[in-house]
Amino acid sequence: MPAAVTGGSRPAEPASAALARPSARLPAASRTYNYCMTIGVLAVQGNFREHCAILRRLGAEVVEVRLPEQLVGLDGLVIPGGESTAIRRLMRLYGLDDAIRDFDGPVFGTCAGMILLDRSHLGLVDVDVERNAYGRQLASFEGDIDLRDGAAPMHGIFIRAPRVAEVGPEVEVLASYENAPVLLRQGRFLVASFHPELTDDTRVHERFLELVREESGVRA
Ligand code: GLN
Repeated sequence: MPAAVTGGSRPAEPASAALARPSARLPAASRTYNYCMTIGVLAVQGNFREHCAILRRLGAEVVEVRLPEQLVGLDGLVIPGGESTAIRRLMRLYGLDDAIRDFDGPVFGTCAGMILLDRSHLGLVDVDVERNAYGRQLASFEGDIDLRDGAAPMHGIFIRAPRVAEVGPEVEVLASYENAPVLLRQGRFLVASFHPELTDDTRVHERFLELVREESGVRA
C-alpha cells in the first residue's frame, strides 16, 4: 500500500532538509560538469524553488523565469508542478505561453508542467494527459519507479498526479508505474508525472542536464 502524501505540494520533510543530508551531496566533479549551463525555472506558481535548489546543487546556473525576456540565452527550461490552471493563466497574462512555444532549447515539465506541455495546452509534447487522474489530494501517493538504469528504483512522489492516457509515435516511455508511463521523452522534451524535485535523488534532473548537454551540441 503506497504511503499517502498529505499537505499539498509540500514534501514530507522540507526540501531544504532533504537537500542538506550528506547523502544528497554530489562529488565536486559531477557538479563541475554542469557549471557552464544556465537553466531557467518557470517561477510564476508551484514548487519552482525545489527545482532551483536541485539544479544549483548539480552545479547549474539557475534563473527564475517570470518574464518572456528571461528565456533569452537559457540552455534549458523547467516547468514545475503546481496548479496547471493557475500557471496557465499567469503564463498567458505575461506572454510566457508564446515565448515558451518559441523557446528552442530542452524543456523539462513535472506534473502540472507535464500537463502544460501536452497536446491540449502548449501542444509541445504529443501526449494526452488526464488531470487529477488518481483522485483528490488524499489520493496522492508514493511508489518506487524503475528508471531502467540498472540502479535502485527511484522513490516517486505523486501529488494529485496526472495520468498519461495516450502517447504519440515520437514519444519514448522512459519509466512506468503500475502500467502508466510516468517519465517520457520526446526529442528535447522530458516530462514526469511525479515530483523528482521533492526527493534527494537527483537522477531525473541529471538526465535532463544530459539532454541539455546533448542538445547544446546539436544547436551549436
Ligand atoms: N493536479 C494539478 C493540476 O492539475 C497538478 C498537480 C501537481 O503538479 N502536483 O494542475
